[in-house]
Amino acid sequence: MNQIVIVGAGHAGFQCAAALRQNGFEGAVVLIGNEDAPPYQRPPLSKAYLQGKIAAADLGFRPERFFIDQKIDLRKGHVEAIDRSKRQVLLSDGTAITYDHLVLATGSQPRALRTPGAELAGVFALQTLRDADRLRAALEGASRAVVVGAGFIGLEFAASARAMGLSVQIVDVAERPMARALSAECGAAFTQEHMAQGADLLWKTGVQHLEGEAGRVIAVVTSEGRRLPADVVLVGIGAEPRTALAAQAGLEVENGVVVNATLLSSDPHISAIGDIAAFPQPGLGRRIRLESVQNATDQARTVAARLTGKGAAYEAVPWFWSDQGALKLQIAGLRNGSEEHVVLGDPATRSFSVLCIADGVLRAVETVNRPADHMLARRLLAKGARVTPAQAREAGFELKALA
Ligand code: FAD
Repeated sequence: MNQIVIVGAGHAGFQCAAALRQNGFEGAVVLIGNEDAPPYQRPPLSKAYLQGKIAAADLGFRPERFFIDQKIDLRKGHVEAIDRSKRQVLLSDGTAITYDHLVLATGSQPRALRTPGAELAGVFALQTLRDADRLRAALEGASRAVVVGAGFIGLEFAASARAMGLSVQIVDVAERPMARALSAECGAAFTQEHMAQGADLLWKTGVQHLEGEAGRVIAVVTSEGRRLPADVVLVGIGAEPRTALAAQAGLEVENGVVVNATLLSSDPHISAIGDIAAFPQPGLGRRIRLESVQNATDQARTVAARLTGKGAAYEAVPWFWSDQGALKLQIAGLRNGSEEHVVLGDPATRSFSVLCIADGVLRAVETVNRPADHMLARRLLAKGARVTPAQAREAGFELKALA
């Protein structure tokens, strides 16, 4: 294989290029990204970077020298189309680049709020460094923020905005935070924490419209008609995989680019990794898509291994983290909602774990400010640790008993 082209220079794309070299690949590696900045970490955008605790220079995965030393041809450009018959990607500046293998790593984009006023100035999504810079500038002169969506990014933003001294109101149509991903027990602790930090949370509440003055947002009007004055509105209502390129090229797409267990798409010359990949999850009996740094980097390593002759199925235990004020949430494994939950420790102490158990098997562990439990949980989940809810509820039970 002579030339591997990677489209998207985010977490997955960068890691795939780096892992190809680590695995001794000697052919050409072309990494194409359409953002201004060289490949950088996204998680701090809603946390330390937004609060001005770290600089843009601290976000880069590697200094620019790394790409030269590793002979990774990092190109700024937007890929407009894939010509599968010629095995070429076509850039918007007219360049065509030929591939022997193509890796799609185009990530996801924030879901747009489709209510009147969503286009007003002062209404933001948070996905890129550029978004974070614009948001930071807006926060400087602001005193009131409204957050639409109590998911991970909305709540991380809310914690940051509170830490920066803004008043914060959060609206969500669900009845608890991070409802799709998190147990009710863990969600309750985050509700408490955001309230303790002074945020106002409005559950089962949608947005009717956004009110503007001279083109700038001045309030969010809720589905109940309540008016929430706002200088800044952050919309965090989920993300959608960027699959247009794959779909136009005729690849199979269904809530992401459909891939097999080794992350190969319906075209044997094209792989897909990271937020866009819809991959089979044998434990759940269906395809899933994950939006996390772990998933992006581990899938990148899996594909790089396959392309250098060490192919294996992607079987990593999923894990994720989110920092919100004083709470560090870490999740290992996947819940499907049918599990029984056992809480270890006291949520009031801001240090506890929630074990999610089904059929006598540990399926997922959510920890708050318990990094040791999280690390242990990842090992236990990888080996399919067994425990019953009754055993986990016995006095003095600790996760390490299963090790
Ligand atoms: P991305 O990192 O999004 O990279 C995709 C890249 O492809 C982008 O640069 C995009 O511009 C580029 N691209 C798209 N289309 C084209 C094209 N046609 N041509 C050229 N380039 C293209 N995960 C966690 O695990 N923990 C966290 O705490 C956490 N916090 C987050 C906070 C924020 C604010 C955000 C936005 C995400 C966070 N995530 C977190 C999620 C995590 O960052 C993503 O899951 C991860 O970045 C996915 O990697 P990816 O490579 O698939 O996509």
